[in-house]
Amino acid sequence: MLSFDIGALQEQAARVDGFLSRDDAVWQEGDPKPATAVHATGRLSSAGSERYYWSGRIEGVVEGACRRCLTGLSAPVGEDVHFIFAETDDAEAEDPDVFALPAGAHTVDLRPAIREQWLLSAPTFALCREDCKGLCAKCGADLNIAACSCEPEVDTRWDALRKLRGEAR
Ligand SMILES: [Zn+2]
Ligand SMILES: [Zn+2]
Repeated sequence: MLSFDIGALQEQAARVDGFLSRDDAVWQEGDPKPATAVHATGRLSSAGSERYYWSGRIEGVVEGACRRCLTGLSAPVGEDVHFIFAETDDAEAEDPDVFALPAGAHTVDLRPAIREQWLLSAPTFALCREDCKGLCAKCGADLNIAACSCEPEVDTRWDALRKLRGEAR
């Protein structure tokens, strides 16, 4: 469970131990997707008037693909979190560690904060390995596995320049 009753929080701090599903509505198009639910833990406590402090951790596994060969990749994500939830004024709303509670809110919802931290912590995959050869642009063969028989790509961008110089063949 990732939503906490504010009345109860004012009485005593709550233990955070919940999972944010990979299918949760909080995720948006283009987010680096978790392979499984993201585990959120820690402690949520009252921190003065209408302010709540979550100190804890998120853990999960992010899925992605190599930019050159499109091989599926995954990597662990684990990060400590320190977030304030508050009915904010404009100045504070600029602070990325402060989440605005809607006026008169009855619950503190950790899900937007989990997503925020996830976006900051999840690696954006570049290459499956430093020397990934990628896919052939013509036949699509994975050149890490074997070379294909396509002619090498000729860079035609210089043709116009060669003509100008009278070097065109
Ligand atoms: Zn690759
Ligand atoms: Zn090829």
